[in-house]
Amino acid sequence: MALHAILLLLAGPGRCPQEAVPPSLHYRVSYAGTERDSDWHVRVEGRGLAYGGGPLFLHLEDWGEWTEVDSYHLRNLTCDPPLRRHEGSRCDWLLDPPADWDGSLALQYDIATVELGSPVRGSHGLVPYRAPTYCFGFSTNTLITADRAGWDTKPRLTFRIEAPPDWTIASGLGGVAVGVLEGQFPAEYDNGVISMGRPVAQDAERSAVALIEVVQWGGGESVVPSVLDFARVFVNECARTSGRPPRQPIRLLITEPGFGGTRTDGSIAIGCPELGQGAMGPGTLHFVAHELFHDWLGGQLRGEGERLAWFWEGFTDYLSLWHLARAGMVSHEWFAQRLLDYDRSLADNAHRGSAAYADPAVNWRDPEIEPLAYQGSALLAFSLDVALRRAGREGLMEMMRALLARPGGRYDLEALRSWLVDNGQAEFWERRFAVAATPDLAADLEFAGFEHKSVETTLTYLGIQLEGEGPFGRILAVDPQGPAAACGVRADDVVSGCWPVHQPPTVLGPEVSTPYRFGLGLYQTDAKACNLGVRRGEQELEFAIPPRLIPGGRRSSWAPRADRIERFFQ
Ligand SMILES: [Zn+2]
Repeated sequence: MALHAILLLLAGPGRCPQEAVPPSLHYRVSYAGTERDSDWHVRVEGRGLAYGGGPLFLHLEDWGEWTEVDSYHLRNLTCDPPLRRHEGSRCDWLLDPPADWDGSLALQYDIATVELGSPVRGSHGLVPYRAPTYCFGFSTNTLITADRAGWDTKPRLTFRIEAPPDWTIASGLGGVAVGVLEGQFPAEYDNGVISMGRPVAQDAERSAVALIEVVQWGGGESVVPSVLDFARVFVNECARTSGRPPRQPIRLLITEPGFGGTRTDGSIAIGCPELGQGAMGPGTLHFVAHELFHDWLGGQLRGEGERLAWFWEGFTDYLSLWHLARAGMVSHEWFAQRLLDYDRSLADNAHRGSAAYADPAVNWRDPEIEPLAYQGSALLAFSLDVALRRAGREGLMEMMRALLARPGGRYDLEALRSWLVDNGQAEFWERRFAVAATPDLAADLEFAGFEHKSVETTLTYLGIQLEGEGPFGRILAVDPQGPAAACGVRADDVVSGCWPVHQPPTVLGPEVSTPYRFGLGLYQTDAKACNLGVRRGEQELEFAIPPRLIPGGRRSSWAPRADRIERFFQ
């Protein structure tokens, strides 16, 4: 104690007073939201930064490829002390602090918002955009970061977002507020949404399990109640099976109809769902569920590096699907269909026979290989779930709970391998992880309680006979009494396109004897019109043909067996 005090006394008088200021960077983003001033005005104030050595590195992440629009996106950049461009980069700068630097920094710049519907939005969908009632962007390509050699303790990061006084602000940085949102950056924060405006609707709910906030910026009518209901049920379900509540508040920000989804820190952006029957479609549900499940696998459970991307992506994809089916939010049929679609989509993947999940050399982010990290690994997760249950075990969530119990939720390839080995799945590891393998999806589905059925279905009769196998080629004959003839399709027209079709095509039963077989099993049977593109001499023609629905189709389907299916989803 005494020695400690003496050391402090010795160190005290020699210290420069500025160095006592704790290092900090404060970001202020303000937006007026008027036609004349639609930029985000950003100011960054630094204090106590005169520690470490060498130049300061300033960086604005090229997310959304803003450097392609460069000085349109980032304007009026000034800094005190002055900075210079890092050679060869449009998104990096260097700042050489003067010898007597007091450690303070004042950086200012403007970020353009692009107008919703403008062409640049089509090619740069991740830079901030503005709609008449709100604007929406992300922090990583709008807030310049600073770093310096020797900054072992990083500066404390705080923010203040200012919008017109009656506007709502929603951000992954710190929640939802009106007029001003401010606070400290969350721990391990990398990138999140910054959005503000007058919401179509919003709601929040705090339960014992989680805080769920939903803000809807786009779309005509409120979808907030159904999105909130879904999130509550799903999150409660995952909390129950994993034994842990989500780590972070659930924040769902709804953008425009038709937009995709993006998960970033503290927020999930989703395009406004179509609420046909009052519920989100299963595809949208699975997307959001996948992102929500990342709170557990990806947030609470952290793998080492991208070489385990297949684990957190594919297993998240499968487990989010399983939880959806378990909670009755998607049907058991849809569960099976989703996995069958995955399997079919991978049938032609050239890497399926060579990329082993336990091989650390595989680049799972290679666009050719990435489907194996998502859909392929989801099928692997399903297989493992089945294998565990075959062995009388509870299933895959047992493995998740074991991994969650590890210090800090950290896991690596060896942790996965040893869990399998310790739990009677050494052979499964060798067969399915250690080497590239194709799943036996039919066997897995059968064990899970599905049975394969051939169901009778209708066919779309147009009255067209092709010369060859089709679906494209010259028309040999047209049924004079058929729908195609009534629309003006002729023999010798050359078929060059048809839509909407379904995959795989419906199989024709043996009783189908008509010679006019074109398109019978090809078109979606619920389509009002079967569209046909043909070449007639020099002309390109399109016909919208109302089909005549005839019997004789066979569709293979996997149907849940009432006596067995529930067990798999318990
Ligand atoms: Zn994911």
